[in-house]
Amino acid sequence: MQAGDKHYTVIVSLDGFRWDYPEMYSTPFLDSMAAHGVKAVMKPSFPSKTFPNHYTLATGLYPDHHGIVANSFWDEQTRRRYSLGDRSICDDPYFYGGEPIWITAQKQGVKTATVYWVGSDIPIQGQHPTYYERYTQTPRLTYAERVARVVELLRMPEEERPQLVMAYFEDPDHDGHVYGPHSPETRQCITRLDVLMKELWEGIQTLPYKDKVNLIVTSDHGMTEVSPERILPVASRLKPEWYERIDGDLPAMIYAQEGCQDSIFRALQGMRHGRVWKKQDIPADLHFGSNARVGDVIVVPDLGWLATDQFKSHPGTHGFDPEYSDMQVIFRAQGPDFKQGYEARSFRNVCIYPLLAHLLGIQPASVDGNLDEIRDMLAR
Ligand code: AMP
Ligand code: ZN
Ligand code: ZN
Repeated sequence: MQAGDKHYTVIVSLDGFRWDYPEMYSTPFLDSMAAHGVKAVMKPSFPSKTFPNHYTLATGLYPDHHGIVANSFWDEQTRRRYSLGDRSICDDPYFYGGEPIWITAQKQGVKTATVYWVGSDIPIQGQHPTYYERYTQTPRLTYAERVARVVELLRMPEEERPQLVMAYFEDPDHDGHVYGPHSPETRQCITRLDVLMKELWEGIQTLPYKDKVNLIVTSDHGMTEVSPERILPVASRLKPEWYERIDGDLPAMIYAQEGCQDSIFRALQGMRHGRVWKKQDIPADLHFGSNARVGDVIVVPDLGWLATDQFKSHPGTHGFDPEYSDMQVIFRAQGPDFKQGYEARSFRNVCIYPLLAHLLGIQPASVDGNLDEIRDMLAR
């Protein structure tokens, strides 16, 4: 690429933005992105949770391969429990495998910026993006301030300007959990986010090189309804001496005591509304189970069910098999590198890292995703 001919990419993650919210609710801006750019449905990786998937978007690796195998999990090597709510633990770069796109870019002399992307405020391999925000520093930027920050980053002098900006917004995940995906609150939230994305695009249009900027709007996972009537008891079917701990309800990961994996499996197998595997037998299409941090037995509930003895969830949640369409997410991309008015096939979110590497003109690390799966959406 010649100097002065650089392209820039902004990728936005709207947490928990199900692929079909634009079909359910009013989203004129996202609809216009589909008309002027690319529209597709993207499949998250298993488990369809926030931390595993944001870090997959950044690295192109399945959670089983990058090591953030759930929002919370047990790490036997250091005998610590990782949890997204416990910064003293999740700030440790030890947990984060693979190479996030900002490190790949940095190594090749390309500047990047993040606004709260999972992993970017942690010194993975001792590095951060060129510009980043700390999630722990509160008060956090408002959504309007985040949009302004993205535009400000792109307004920097060319030598300092990041070529990739990754921005994160906590919604519509919050309303999806509290009120469910089909609710007036979520409807309102989606329309607010649509306006926010329009404002971001309008901000980009004020740049002198606006025609060189791609905008991608996507997400980490979808959302579906759960209910106290749909629970799969786990702990009450097991002898306490068989296991050390059970982590999560979607999936439930059971960490067995020495020699007790079979007993646990036998006690749980054959349950209705859920699938149970020993970790070494998890089917290949879930790409899960090779990592030491995965529990010895896992229970994966069917859509709408939770593997728990006591329902403590909000009415909406996520974490299910990515093949369920309720777990799949929005993908819109508009700008010089994308076709116009093109509807692409659904694709795996491990392909985002190779896509970003391509858009930046850098050599990607070897990952689980593949640019060939989505090459047809590119303009050239
Ligand atoms: P969940 O719905 O449980 O998968 O997680 C969503 C939550 O993750 C959001 O509500 C955020 O508060 C939290 N979150 C997102 N990014 C970060 C981050 N970089 N550091 C800590 N927590 C985060
Ligand atoms: Zn999320
Ligand atoms: Zn969530």
